[in-house]
Amino acid sequence: MKLKLHWQILIALVLGTIYGIVFSGYVEYVSWMGTLFLNGLKMVIVPLILSSIISGVANIGGAEDFGRLGAKTLGYYILTSLLAILTGLVLVNIIRPGVGVDLGLAQHVEGLVNAKQSFGKTLLNIVPKNVFKSFANGDMLAIIFFAMLFGFFITRVGDKYGGILKDFFNAVFKVMMKITMFVIKFAPYGIFAIVADVVAKQASKGNLGNVVASLGLYMLTVILALAFHAFVTLPLLIKFLGKSNPWKHAKGMATPLLTAFSTASSSATLPLTMQAVEQNSGVSNKISSFVLPLGATINMDGTALYELVAAMFIAQAYGLHIPFLQQFLMVFAALLASIGAAGIPMAGLVMMTVVMSVVGLPLEGIGLILTVDRILDMMRTTVNVWSDSTCAVIIAKSEGEKLNV
Ligand code: ASP
Repeated sequence: MKLKLHWQILIALVLGTIYGIVFSGYVEYVSWMGTLFLNGLKMVIVPLILSSIISGVANIGGAEDFGRLGAKTLGYYILTSLLAILTGLVLVNIIRPGVGVDLGLAQHVEGLVNAKQSFGKTLLNIVPKNVFKSFANGDMLAIIFFAMLFGFFITRVGDKYGGILKDFFNAVFKVMMKITMFVIKFAPYGIFAIVADVVAKQASKGNLGNVVASLGLYMLTVILALAFHAFVTLPLLIKFLGKSNPWKHAKGMATPLLTAFSTASSSATLPLTMQAVEQNSGVSNKISSFVLPLGATINMDGTALYELVAAMFIAQAYGLHIPFLQQFLMVFAALLASIGAAGIPMAGLVMMTVVMSVVGLPLEGIGLILTVDRILDMMRTTVNVWSDSTCAVIIAKSEGEKLNV
């Protein structure tokens, strides 16, 4: 039997730590694996985001009842994602998991020049002068903007050309998801090397305890924020907006939620989510087949919250003070990143680059949070699926349906 990826990663973590301590003088023999893995992740970023957004927007923009139902659903999705991000923002500013830890990352700060770029300029640059330059530079906001426009106008050029382009971008998206999953298969090797490297460097400075403690605090921040969103915010929305019983609904959702946790993929969980929402909670197929697939692609509360907390954590670890306006930009970027993230494992980690690039954080910072990404991925995916299902209940109720919950 093949060992599940999260076990492989856990083993890699342990072995990487041991290697870093025991063979601290020999990390260059393994560190290339980490570089290769990070290169692989960076390689998929632009085409994955581009195809994910173009196909997502093109698929929904043309739907028949996109009008009322679409507006309501999108509004709800954006609302819950923002609530989640704000929860994360408050907690990361209170707990401040990365502050005061010298992670020795400050060597590569070339990227930080952007951080000084003014708020206004960042906003202006969302409309790129040269979109190919944006692709090459990885200017995420510009890429997302262009992709949304492109996807939208695919639905406006008539069936002949629109159909070809939609098929084309759906196909590219499928291939990019496969390539991403392929890269992620190498995560245990990459993580082994990155952990060995970090441990060796920090151990030599006597700083290892500090790093472990701050990563622990970072995880705690994400977990507390996720818990607040899942156990307080969303149930309140079901109760007051959806006039339904959140706990009864949650009970019916047990199977998809556990599946989301163990697969770390909203897309893989989708069929089970639809079944539970329809059969246990009593939502009609008409609503669930519109709301849930859309939700599995664009509504990721857990991911949105995680994007913000992780980026803030990295900023804090670099000793960077992020002023209020820049934090506002990060909130916006985290929302877009969660919309653009595919419903597959670690997609949120790939999308981190969106949030990091708007404030000019060096992508190397990802190496740090990568080590504990899997377990957080499992948790945030569970929250993503839970949020999609609450939306289905609320929309169904607002359309006058009689539910079981
Ligand atoms: N794994 C998440 C999902 O499928 C996405 C992410 O990585 O945040 O919902």
